[in-house]
Amino acid sequence: MKADIVTIFPDFFRGPLEYGITRRAQEMGLAAIQVHDLREFTHDRHRTVDDRPFGGGEGMVLKPEPLFECLELLGVAPREERLAGRAKQSVVLLSAQGQRFTQKVASELVLLDHIVLVCGRYEGVDERVAECLADRELSIGDYVLSGGEMAAAVIVEAVMRLLPGAVGNEASTQQESFTVDAKVKASDGADSTCGSNGLLDYPHYTRPAEFSGMAVPEALLSGNHEEIRRWRRQRALEKTLRNRPDLLEGASLSEEDKRFLAGIKNNRG
Ligand code: SAM
Repeated sequence: MKADIVTIFPDFFRGPLEYGITRRAQEMGLAAIQVHDLREFTHDRHRTVDDRPFGGGEGMVLKPEPLFECLELLGVAPREERLAGRAKQSVVLLSAQGQRFTQKVASELVLLDHIVLVCGRYEGVDERVAECLADRELSIGDYVLSGGEMAAAVIVEAVMRLLPGAVGNEASTQQESFTVDAKVKASDGADSTCGSNGLLDYPHYTRPAEFSGMAVPEALLSGNHEEIRRWRRQRALEKTLRNRPDLLEGASLSEEDKRFLAGIKNNRG
């Protein structure tokens, strides 16, 4: 997969792209990530990328010309081709006003050959970029950042770890929080139905089995796969109900899961 990031702060990405799975994916040749300095696409002495907003108001706005010129150089297919799915490419404008970036969106993006992430700054980006250049606007959450760089780094990380081969144990990315349709067997033989299927992940423990009076739950030490599966599934259900009850509506729940949740709700009174 090819990923291009367009920013006025290219040095920002020195850290995020040089560690962990993102680095590994590049070293393994699974991904080619390039960062582009938007100022390289300006033609004035001051390398101006922003200007005052028409109609007045606060702050500055990123100008359209350098962005259009940069995208032309990156050789992306026309917007209509991308929107129609005829080109396996996407030009993403990072924006607090965008659609929410989720695991589902990450799993759609990883199927593409080429993504371009355009980082806004100041009050934002000239709207013609959203209307005519980008094919989607994505937000990483309901808060306002000073620029799209953090958001681009988040998206790159979430997408790269879904590339087949990027994570050592691929099964692990199919059983995590938010993953839907996990159909894998865990390495210890426990069935995947303890895994996500739209729920938050179950709790994990490692050695020592007892630490400062805090013991690892008995079920995990039992060696009984069915007991481990049930324990994990129930903890995932409890945690999802407690922290993200909204996810339960979209999760795929068995009759056993539903009875377990009903039991918790009844006990709450
Ligand atoms: N005036 C904009 C608004 O109220 O929606 C906020 C602009 S923000 C200060 C500058 C840039 O940061 C945006 O153009 C966008 O690229 C990025 N940004 C801010 N919050 C973001 C978020 N939640 N997700 C993705 N990008 C964000």
